[in-house]
Amino acid sequence: METKSEFKFLLCPRCGGKTRTQVKKNTVLKEFPLFCPKCKYVCEISFGNGKIENIKTPDAKTQC
Ligand SMILES: [Zn+2]
Repeated sequence: METKSEFKFLLCPRCGGKTRTQVKKNTVLKEFPLFCPKCKYVCEISFGNGKIENIKTPDAKTQC
């Protein structure tokens, strides 16, 4: 039996950690500010078709 939640956490595009943002596979986000509690990083993402489609990083020069 399928007991898996239909919600899943978005992963931080920077460190790969779980953010506190949950999405469903039919969720659509546009220019959504995604905050990562692990590396305290915020980036703008667009989400559609069950995956992150576009990531806008305000401080792209910063390296890990
Ligand atoms: Zn992170």
